[in-house]
Amino acid sequence: MPVAQRIERFPAEEEVRGSNPLGHANMAFSTPVSKIPNIGSSYESKLKNLKIRTVGDLLYYFPSRYEDLSETTSISSIYSEGRYTIRGKILRISTGRTLRRRIPFSEITIKDGTGEMKAVFLNQPYLAKNLKEGEELLLSGKASYSREGVQFVNPYYERTKGMYADIGITPVYPETKGLSSRWLRSIIAPLLKTLESKIQETLPKEVIKKKQLYTLEEALKEIHFPRSWDSLKKAQERLSFERIFLLQLFLVKQKMVLGKRKSVPVDIKIKEIQKLVSDLPFDLTNAQKKAAWQIIKDLEKDFPMNRLLEGDVGSGKTVVAIIAALSVIKGGYQVAFMAPTGVLSRQHFDEISKLLWRFKIDVGLLTGKKDKLRSNKLKGDTLEISRKKLVEKVKKGELSLLVGTHALIQEEVKFKNLGLVVLDEQHRFGVEQRSKLCLKDDGRVPHLLSMTATPIPRTLTLTVYGDLDLSVINELPKERKKVITRIISPKKRKEAYHFIGKEIEKGRQAFFICPRIEESEDNESPWAGLKSVEKEKERLDEEVFPDLRVELLHGKMKSTEKEKVMKDFKSKKIDILVSPSVIEVGIDIKNASVMVIEGAEMFGLSQLHQFRGRVGRGEFQSYCFLFTSSHTGRTKERLKALLESDNGFQLAEKDLEIRGPGDFVGKRQWGSPDFTMEALKDRELVEEARSEAKEVLSQDPELKEHHLLKRRVDSLEKKFHLE
Ligand code: ADP
Ligand code: MG
Repeated sequence: MPVAQRIERFPAEEEVRGSNPLGHANMAFSTPVSKIPNIGSSYESKLKNLKIRTVGDLLYYFPSRYEDLSETTSISSIYSEGRYTIRGKILRISTGRTLRRRIPFSEITIKDGTGEMKAVFLNQPYLAKNLKEGEELLLSGKASYSREGVQFVNPYYERTKGMYADIGITPVYPETKGLSSRWLRSIIAPLLKTLESKIQETLPKEVIKKKQLYTLEEALKEIHFPRSWDSLKKAQERLSFERIFLLQLFLVKQKMVLGKRKSVPVDIKIKEIQKLVSDLPFDLTNAQKKAAWQIIKDLEKDFPMNRLLEGDVGSGKTVVAIIAALSVIKGGYQVAFMAPTGVLSRQHFDEISKLLWRFKIDVGLLTGKKDKLRSNKLKGDTLEISRKKLVEKVKKGELSLLVGTHALIQEEVKFKNLGLVVLDEQHRFGVEQRSKLCLKDDGRVPHLLSMTATPIPRTLTLTVYGDLDLSVINELPKERKKVITRIISPKKRKEAYHFIGKEIEKGRQAFFICPRIEESEDNESPWAGLKSVEKEKERLDEEVFPDLRVELLHGKMKSTEKEKVMKDFKSKKIDILVSPSVIEVGIDIKNASVMVIEGAEMFGLSQLHQFRGRVGRGEFQSYCFLFTSSHTGRTKERLKALLESDNGFQLAEKDLEIRGPGDFVGKRQWGSPDFTMEALKDRELVEEARSEAKEVLSQDPELKEHHLLKRRVDSLEKKFHLE
């Protein structure tokens, strides 16, 4: 059937009728949605909530699923449980609440020529108002048995009024208050018609031909109004290839642009590095040595390094970065060492300055409050110094290493000749941002070393880190003791608390992690019943461990407060530190030997592994307790992986398998249609997209011949930098 006819089978809503969709000849992807007939300001703002501002955005708002309403069953012939579609009139409508959990619902009785059945809509009391007795509906869903016979629970429904009888595969859009699938269809169908044979292709023609992909126009039509399940699949293939191709184009382009810039080739003094390494209280692991070597090789080149050092928690990334810093400083340049928080900056400052003051390297700490300096002249002591003075020293080039938060390179701090930026726990740093960090005025930019403790599954590295060179530390220091991990069900809680108390008696300390959620009214929320951090702190402090010192650390505290708490924890004035999940990556406290995670089932394995990595850093046997009240076999199965593996990369692979790529690629950036997420797991496809991207850029590095591609890549660039 021709597409136009197919689309016409989805006529506009009542209120839309009478307008002529073809009357709008000048629609383009960039046209604001307000110009679409029948979109008033209220719909405009609802669309805006979904980040839909233009016609293009709207057409790229994909259905989340489809219902096949083409085959209906008569009510009397539904005997067994299973999926059915029925067509009938509403006989009665009522509302109520479920007996035990008091969940509000609407209930309708529906009748066709053969019999009656009930359909219950949980949590949708408003439906009773929207539906009318006598109205004819198509209902599709799973039939199940209740005391009152067969019924539907939360079926999909569609009014038949104004709809052709032979309606086929029907798109259902992600649920959003006030925007029904029906309404979206009524807007999108005429739009596609208006734009017929006017939708410009984004992918290069050769790529489409070679890969036998749908054109963009075909794909958009099929994704919204598929003719068949097969054509839907082809549309999804085309659109996910496009998405991945665009991302690779962006990443490869970033890499190319940077490769053309100049940096400072550092003259490496091996003797100094050897001296530093022999000063260390431990031997470097082979993986650390290899990473350090790769970095040094990069630093010797005259274009900027853009390397990511990826290594499990506790794998010893900091010391590798210190080796790089020493090399650059001895080569005559300055280094900026950035961490995501003040607390972490301070920790780095302590560790770095302790190692480097003997090399006659002055190290400054700039956090906004109580800035510090440690230098050879001070014989390794630290001195408080005003921000003004510190900044002055940096500007004059008297200070070669400055540690601090992001503010370090964003604000008024001017370096005399910055040769290296180290970014801890933060991997994305755009080419543009970096070009602001020029060395003097000669346009040369510093080298960049980023570090992260989030292992990425191998299949996803090209997607997530495609613009970076990668060094991996896949080995922990030898003497590190394995953290003993246990899953604790509610029954075993007491026992666990008792054990923790004993550990603290021995002089150890403990972390408690709680999901950061305000106490919720909403019983249906998966977070309901989970402990809010503050309440949990009170409970631990007053009921569970009344004799111990329990403190809270959370993101909303002032930075001075946070630093005080961390300092007290480090100096053992605090026994138990309670914090939400988001707080302070990378904290290194050797005396802490217990990590407790509340609501462990809510987290990904990689994340749990990160938490666990905060203990087991010293000489003591350490423990990780995963508190969970979930009884499902799947949760247990998943958590068990943590008992079996202490390798972040393995766990990341497992996460990918179970939870999909969302945790790793950042759902927000992706807007995440599931089919694209799935496609990301296909390494071959990603590699293909990358090589096509390279091909296009080698012919047309500025994308001058590919306006549309350029526009979309530029908008990706913006998204990444807003992160
Ligand atoms: P991360 O990679 O998580 O940032 P850190 O750099 O903070 O890890 O290192 C964790 C701890 O391990 C630090 O106390 C560090 O001094 C120590 N460390 C680093 N490398 C080694 C090694 N090769 N052998 C023993 N301990 C090491
Ligand atoms: Mg670290």
